[in-house]
Amino acid sequence: MTHTSILPRLILMLFMATCTSISILAQTFGKHFNEATLRIDYIFAGNNYSQNIYLDRMKTFSGWYGRRTNMDILPLRGNGNITVTDITGADTLYTHSFSTLFQEWQSTEEATKVGRSFESTLLIPMPKEKVQVSVELKNMHNGSKSCLKHTIDPSDILISTHNEKKTTPYRYLHKAGDSKKKIDIVFIPEGYTAEEMEQFGKDCQESIESIFRHRPFNQLKDRFNFIAVDVPSEHSGVSVPRNKIWKETATGSHFDTFYSNRYLTTPNIKKLYDILDGIPCESIIILANTNEYGGGGIYNNYMLSASRGPAYKSVIVHEFGHSFAGLADEYFYDDQYVTMYPAGIEPWEQNLTTLTDFGSKWKDMLPQGTEIPTVADGKDRYTKVGVYEGGGYQSKGVYRPAQDCRMHTNQAPDFCPVCQRAILRLVDFLTEED
Ligand SMILES: [Zn+2]
Repeated sequence: MTHTSILPRLILMLFMATCTSISILAQTFGKHFNEATLRIDYIFAGNNYSQNIYLDRMKTFSGWYGRRTNMDILPLRGNGNITVTDITGADTLYTHSFSTLFQEWQSTEEATKVGRSFESTLLIPMPKEKVQVSVELKNMHNGSKSCLKHTIDPSDILISTHNEKKTTPYRYLHKAGDSKKKIDIVFIPEGYTAEEMEQFGKDCQESIESIFRHRPFNQLKDRFNFIAVDVPSEHSGVSVPRNKIWKETATGSHFDTFYSNRYLTTPNIKKLYDILDGIPCESIIILANTNEYGGGGIYNNYMLSASRGPAYKSVIVHEFGHSFAGLADEYFYDDQYVTMYPAGIEPWEQNLTTLTDFGSKWKDMLPQGTEIPTVADGKDRYTKVGVYEGGGYQSKGVYRPAQDCRMHTNQAPDFCPVCQRAILRLVDFLTEED
């Protein structure tokens, strides 16, 4: 059991939408963007009912490794997005969705008592001309909750440049092709000392093998590059606050996020991206050198997993399902009722439904005559597609596609057919040729 979120959510107040909708036009990469990345650091701050977004710093480095096709469309809605438009706001040039630890935190009890701030870094291709950028965070009712709009002038002298001589050393562990065309997944060692870097390399290899053992990744080896960065930590292992253990590590991660024992995350997003400046990176896997069970995965943000212990190979694939593919947890709690997915709102995650808009989900994959809800009879647990009640931490009102799945338990040998299709569609979207 690992989490994108673990605590009961409070109903968040709906704030008025401030971002206007933007027309969709196909755009060619080279017309609007240079072969460079613009890293934008933001601060997301607030409490249980308010959100504020602040611009922090901007930095540029050569090379753009994100997608070059479908630039103006989101494959998944996510809990937030960044959208680049031309200076008039009329044409969308690039858009990208994500989820955040900040939004998860807003549902915790702590957020009812104190305001807090969270670092967030977003990458966009470096524009050739002045552009408008809007960053939007949603609430659970799919409304825009907060939005920051600002102009970026690529000739702004305060956009700092990355010193390429200081790029963290990295190497390709699996190379399917040019990083501009493939999906680049970067492994970061967390809590591995200089002497343990060889072990880190082995742990990366095992993680890659574990991902590629699962369908549909087993058919997609030609779409992914896997890269390992060489950034040793001062201490071996990671911080476990409940045991009063704090360590000096590459990204400063720790267990007990939101006081939940197994939730392993890092608040140090700027530190994380300082390691990554100049490196091809579209998805981040942080391997934590510990056998303490746990992890966390946040869509288009990062995933962190313990890299030791008996269950880690399953946990890594589960968390990658969150952070790369935007899949939701299919497990639920019998003895508590939490409202992550309120009735009347269809979740954006492809492997859950509230039956509000089931036609947009896996209705077309149901065998004829399938009853809704479907009774879990224990047969064909991983393969028989149905509409099984219980998922997304809720025992009622949320439905999952199979009795069991890698997004449900660590015992499941594979993703269910619906998760497999969602992954396949996303990979096709990201790697489609012009
Ligand atoms: Zn599934």
